[in-house]
Amino acid sequence: MPALGFGTWELRGRAAERAVTEALAAGYRHIDTAAMYGNEKQVGRAVRSSGLDRSEVFVTTKIWNTDHGYERSGKALDRSHRELQLDPIDLVLIHWPGGRERLETWRLLEERLADQTVRAIGVSNYGLGDLDELLAHADVVPMVNQIEFNPFVHARRRAVIERCRQLGAQVTAWRPLTKGRALHDPVVTAIADRLGRTPAQVMLRWSVEHDVVPLPKSSHGDRIRANAAVFDFTLTATDMAKLDALGQ
Ligand code: NDP
Repeated sequence: MPALGFGTWELRGRAAERAVTEALAAGYRHIDTAAMYGNEKQVGRAVRSSGLDRSEVFVTTKIWNTDHGYERSGKALDRSHRELQLDPIDLVLIHWPGGRERLETWRLLEERLADQTVRAIGVSNYGLGDLDELLAHADVVPMVNQIEFNPFVHARRRAVIERCRQLGAQVTAWRPLTKGRALHDPVVTAIADRLGRTPAQVMLRWSVEHDVVPLPKSSHGDRIRANAAVFDFTLTATDMAKLDALGQ
């Protein structure tokens, strides 16, 4: 999985296709969508028309809460295949753990992994108890857990991230930029000013240094490009500690 992804929640229609096209041109090779976002068709079209080989782009989609259960999740995933037209899909996640039939959804995903119509399977928003329940029933350990992760929720995420590491599950970060709300935090801006970087770049670099793959979303070309430029600088141990402490 590429170490940075592009988020697409709230991008719809032509705006979604345009943003994903810009992201691919800016060097992103990992796109995060979901059936619930209503943009799988546009994401698929942007990837197919990018001129990139299909093997170069990693695409994630997710099964929504109302589609849990063996039959229903199978139909939902068939729909995602039809919308995306990017077979095989690189990664399919259970979007949220809620729903009594979620273990049946996992059984369906295990079958789709075995028949190679999806290349990897995982979960999203799973806490410790959710993971334990799944592991007690699963044949395949989830390969990914996508959770909210940014400096302001860091303290509350430590235990689940540690558990995912033990399991060999890659953690990916939704809302890595706090949806833009905390980009003016003085601790973040002081580090950004010292390094000559944007606050968004500092937050994304912080996630990368925690080995958690951030999935920033933007509808603006300049931000899309700037958010990808996080692999040519590092944060000091002091910077990391200050950012970690924002979540206390
Ligand atoms: P983000 O933390 O990525 O923030 C996105 C917001 O920040 C947008 O409003 C964007 O505005 C703004 N922004 C982006 N870059 C900058 C910048 N450089 N400077 C200032 N503002 C900026 O939030 P999301 O909630 O979108 O999370 C990212 C992705 O994670 C989603 O798109 C989705 O793919 C995934 N996700 C998954 C969830 C799950 O349950 N699994 C839940 C929520 C999200 P603008 O577009 O105007 O640039």
